[in-house]
Amino acid sequence: MRQPLVAGNWKMNGNLDSITTLVEGIKAGLGEVRTAEVAVCPPFVYIPQVVQMLSDTPVAVGSQDISDEESGAFTGEVAGPMLRDVGCSYAIVGHSERRSIYGESDEFTARKFAAARRFGLTPILCVGELLEEREAGTTEAVVGRQLDAVIELEGIAALGEAVIAYEPVWAIGTGKTASPEQAQEVHAFIRAKLAGLDAGVADKIRILYGGSVKAANAAELFAMADIDGGLIGGASLQAGEFLGICTAPDKI
Ligand code: PEP
Repeated sequence: MRQPLVAGNWKMNGNLDSITTLVEGIKAGLGEVRTAEVAVCPPFVYIPQVVQMLSDTPVAVGSQDISDEESGAFTGEVAGPMLRDVGCSYAIVGHSERRSIYGESDEFTARKFAAARRFGLTPILCVGELLEEREAGTTEAVVGRQLDAVIELEGIAALGEAVIAYEPVWAIGTGKTASPEQAQEVHAFIRAKLAGLDAGVADKIRILYGGSVKAANAAELFAMADIDGGLIGGASLQAGEFLGICTAPDKI
């Protein structure tokens, strides 16, 4: 059985006050969460404070990005050993905002995936198609290509130590959620693709869905056979809403 994971991606939101309030709110409701593993991914600068505030809880902390390098003259970058140092256990790589706004390629994302693993962080590899790619019928080709870049660099076994987040770009921050059936179809494709290379990895890996997940729609999404939790953007900024998603697996 795969334990569901609900990870909040706070993106570039918040300040010391609002983040303190958010973490306190999450902590206050954690006792209700019975099934899911919970993680939060704050902006880099708030990670140490969030780690400290959550130190008496099982909530994991992750970064929203990671450098592909270990150290050196890479102005503005944050390296894996630094993230480990301050208490991160996950690192998101290849978020669609990194791919589309900052032009990060499949190969660069694969190098970030490799760096996360090399420095002891579990990568959360985001994949997903644009609206025009879905409409052109190329969803599987796009997601397959994004996965292949990582498999070619790191090998299939590396996926067994990672998390995948399927996030259709047209559903991110738009309020348009993929239907449970639409999401399941792509999750099943991902798992079958991995199973073609290593059945054990396919069985073990958690594949999260991301894209306008809310407390009101989380349970129907997470009830699908190949959906193992969610990567949550907007709704992770409100403690009550986020907790509603974290407790969704308890209701299935
Ligand atoms: C995300 O950015 O990873 C995401 C899923 O955002 P939202 O939940 O706001 O659509």
